[in-house]
Amino acid sequence: MRTALVTGGGRGIGAAICKKLASDGYRVLLTYCNSSKPAEMVVDDIRNSGVDAVAANCDVTDAREVALLATHPWVTEGVDVLVLNHGRYDRIDAKELDLNHLRRTMSTNFEGAFLVWDAVKPRLSEEARICVIGSQLGTRGSPHGADYSASKAALSIWARSLAQSLAPEGKRVNVIAPGFVDTDILAGDSPEKRTSREQEVPLKRIGTPEDIAGVVSFLVGENSSYITGAVIHVNGGLYLP
Ligand code: NDP
Repeated sequence: MRTALVTGGGRGIGAAICKKLASDGYRVLLTYCNSSKPAEMVVDDIRNSGVDAVAANCDVTDAREVALLATHPWVTEGVDVLVLNHGRYDRIDAKELDLNHLRRTMSTNFEGAFLVWDAVKPRLSEEARICVIGSQLGTRGSPHGADYSASKAALSIWARSLAQSLAPEGKRVNVIAPGFVDTDILAGDSPEKRTSREQEVPLKRIGTPEDIAGVVSFLVGENSSYITGAVIHVNGGLYLP
């Protein structure tokens, strides 16, 4: 059976990606950091649909935990799809950003993705697909997330470089850059803020985790066999670079 490994798959966008890949026929190894209960619920949902799934605790900023993840039997048997989805976004004014905060964000969003890739790469199957969840802010920047935007820009250009390096082997790497998506990241919005976001989006709605999961499914499937090194903007027309 084909195996998908999804980081941060216990909630939000990651959970929707896990469920979608399971419905596509992958057994799913998902990682969580702090949220064990939601992760177990995702595993139960997938198993109830008749597909195998398992959750592993792994803080991507901890090289030892990532190395341990790479010894999981489902990894050593070969990973067909790797989705680097985990991420943190702490709203902070760009003027107030300090070095510690910058390092924390970079080490989670960028270095954490690198660590997972680096640990898992010997186990990738011949025609493995890698999908990286970036952000519209990785192109656009944000006054409330200079660290986050920089980490996502780094992630995106790293992934595109990797795509060029891996293409001769038949492995594909693509980036999804979501706009506003309805997860805990937006949970602090007031009703007014939510309405103003909806008005800002040309399609006049906030995206759902399933909007992103559907694009992951496409990018790891056969219908995208000539796409690698791409950044797909999934944002309701909010920002068209
Ligand atoms: P959530 O905050 O809902 O989920 C974040 C996920 O990242 C959780 O599963 C969390 O695990 C995991 N995570 C955070 N830190 C670590 C860590 N150190 N090690 C391992 N896992 C970690 O966010 P979303 O679902 O919205 O975001 C998913 C991805 O999409 C992120 O990369 C985010 O930047 C990106 N994105 C989201 C947008 C949005 O509007 N929602 C817009 C653009 C991009 P746990 O809960 O177990 O700690």
